[in-house]
Amino acid sequence: MKTETIQLAGDVPGNHIELRVLRFAGKDEKAVSAYLQSSLHGSELPGQAALHFLLPMLEKAGREGRIAGDITIVPQANPVGSAQWLSHQHLGRFEFFSSGNFNRSFPLLDTFDTSGLVPLDGPKSLAERLKAQLLRLALPHDIVLDLHCDDESENYLYIHQAFLPEMYDLAAALGSTAILSWNSTADAAFEEACAHPVLQLPEGKRDMTRRAVTTVEFRGLNDVDIATGKADAEGLYRFLVHRGVVSDPAVTLTVDFKGPVTPLENVEMVRAPQGGMILFHVNIGDEVAAGAKLVTVVTVPGDPSGDITLTAPQAGRILTRRSHRYTRRGDDLLKLLGSKRSEQARPGSLEA
Ligand SMILES: [Zn+2]
Repeated sequence: MKTETIQLAGDVPGNHIELRVLRFAGKDEKAVSAYLQSSLHGSELPGQAALHFLLPMLEKAGREGRIAGDITIVPQANPVGSAQWLSHQHLGRFEFFSSGNFNRSFPLLDTFDTSGLVPLDGPKSLAERLKAQLLRLALPHDIVLDLHCDDESENYLYIHQAFLPEMYDLAAALGSTAILSWNSTADAAFEEACAHPVLQLPEGKRDMTRRAVTTVEFRGLNDVDIATGKADAEGLYRFLVHRGVVSDPAVTLTVDFKGPVTPLENVEMVRAPQGGMILFHVNIGDEVAAGAKLVTVVTVPGDPSGDITLTAPQAGRILTRRSHRYTRRGDDLLKLLGSKRSEQARPGSLEA
């Protein structure tokens, strides 16, 4: 394994960030290559834990000459977001300077040629230069896994519809409970930026059996522990072996994903009509009937007449809940996977 440290100058003199890039050179230039990154949202650590335990497995494979395809890993993809603390709290999702979501507004290229992207020392903000650099690192690979997590959540994947059904193997390898499929835009999330050049190719030339591009939602913010990290590392390793990036005769994968594949428009985003305390009636993984109580927002503590109880717009499965228990008016409370289009459906990514 080779470690490369890429330095990006800050936007004012006297400071910089460092991006740590870990590379394994494959023995077979025809083998599938893979790029994995974690913590683009700085406070999302389950993927970082998975990579922490995956790397020794890959180093062992490297020592034994079993790395077939090139592998590039960036365990901490966003040193800017990792360093954002305010009033003793870590805030890694939105950039302090612009309030922009770190996983939106990536450049959408029509080809795999990255020469037009802003260079490391170009006249753009650090966040824009970082996005360009991550894209330069990722795009040469057949497989791009961007490891994130939700608030409180099941283990699920975002996948563009064009990459299905070929990517059911990833869902099987990771034990994902659901796939959220999209086909229009994801507001130029990293995943969309990596899928975009593939989708510009004619259908017959996309070579989808080699490719995988996804946002992995490795459960919730607090699902960071040794056992889960090791299990997720084994899942990622199983997938890499299945795709021939690493060879390991001891590892096999049965592609038996049976979870729902839910178009984004069928996801019910339940939002708070007013601000207040959140009292959930359901937990993640629950199957609910249409009309079932989901959550009560307490707007006047001590006075039940101020309670607002929200019910399921359609039957489905509770995929995620917010991890906080105090909401603002209009904010997301939970995601319910339905089987028909949500009346609230709108184009683009599900949340801010
Ligand atoms: Zn994220």
